[in-house]
Amino acid sequence: MHTKHCRLCGAELTRSFVDLGSTPLANSYLTAEQVARGEESSYRLHARVCDACLLVQVDEAIPADAIFSSDYAYFSSISSTWVAHARRYAEAMIARFGLGPQSLVMEAASNDGYLLQHFLARGVQVLGIEPAANVAAAAIRIGIPTEVTFFNTDSARTIAARHGRADLIAANNVLAHVPDLPGFVAGFAAILEPEGVATFEFPHLLNLIRQVQFDTIYHEHYSYLSLLVVERVLAGAGLRAFDVEPLPTHGGSLRVFCCRADAAHPTEPRLPQMRALETEAGLDLPETYDSMAPKVAAIVGVFRDFVAARKSSGRRLAAYGAAAKGNTFLNACGVTASDLLCVADRSPAKQGRMLPGSHLPVVAPDVLTAIRPDDVVILPWNIADEIAEELRPLRAAGCRLWVAVPELRQL
Ligand SMILES: [Zn+2]
Repeated sequence: MHTKHCRLCGAELTRSFVDLGSTPLANSYLTAEQVARGEESSYRLHARVCDACLLVQVDEAIPADAIFSSDYAYFSSISSTWVAHARRYAEAMIARFGLGPQSLVMEAASNDGYLLQHFLARGVQVLGIEPAANVAAAAIRIGIPTEVTFFNTDSARTIAARHGRADLIAANNVLAHVPDLPGFVAGFAAILEPEGVATFEFPHLLNLIRQVQFDTIYHEHYSYLSLLVVERVLAGAGLRAFDVEPLPTHGGSLRVFCCRADAAHPTEPRLPQMRALETEAGLDLPETYDSMAPKVAAIVGVFRDFVAARKSSGRRLAAYGAAAKGNTFLNACGVTASDLLCVADRSPAKQGRMLPGSHLPVVAPDVLTAIRPDDVVILPWNIADEIAEELRPLRAAGCRLWVAVPELRQL
């Protein structure tokens, strides 16, 4: 096996974080014909940590076109929770930074305009930057000017020359998906006004470790980020963080506020507090990361025993939630369609297909109700309570509901 090098600093990667073996891409849902023809590629899914810069990363870079060429298109506006989150963000930023008709707000990976629409409605100028043409078209239709391109240093310079610089630029849940982290972040230095602000939201590595959220590891997530590493990347691009806000999204995220290194924004007390929290947890020490793999192995072992026990006692087991994290989980556990009846999901685009790897059939929620399994495992633990509420009739009929991460428990 050839040597792997850190995506951020180039050092040799020698320390394992979690090795999940060889699995298909977590968002590659299959048709029955594809399963019958055996059309499925698997790639190594092994997260490592760099001893030199402490970036946690998956070491098998899948070509971006293999990931994005699938017919999977995600429109952010479909999620009402996410749109509400975006509206609160817009209101807070307008108030905090005094944004008005003279200001220009941009978003890198602006999707269908789910975020910028709230600035537009308040009379602030906006510009989206989105690589997926069909998704960008949806934004343009609702009046949001959008450049169809990947955000990087080159495109940032071109956009600044064409449209002017940004007073505020957001990048939500995109840092983890970027193969070239320094090149991406350098674009923000190129596009910001001298006193402009960039905000980055990303799932916080501290929560991933503490709550053993290993199922958030998948090929499309290149990086798993701490404040420590993000500040290192920012410094390399001539930027500095001045504030950080913990958010409940995606099992616990951070929103980092940053500006040019020489800008006047004062450092808020929350920033050193969060740094201290990470240091207390040992995120600055490579050995800390060794604790993850045994915890993952324990969760996988418990779940495999649980499945075997259901099978031997003749109880019928199903799952709910055909999202990426469920696929990582089921494939890490080696669970297949001979172990679980099906997985229910509300997304019509997924119903009738099969999960990558495990090949569980995806059915509509009312099919699950009709099947009346004895046990249902809710895979998206972050919205387990919401789903349990939805499955109340099933539970009333005697079905037991479970979550398996960070530990198996009955709801
Ligand atoms: Zn490194």
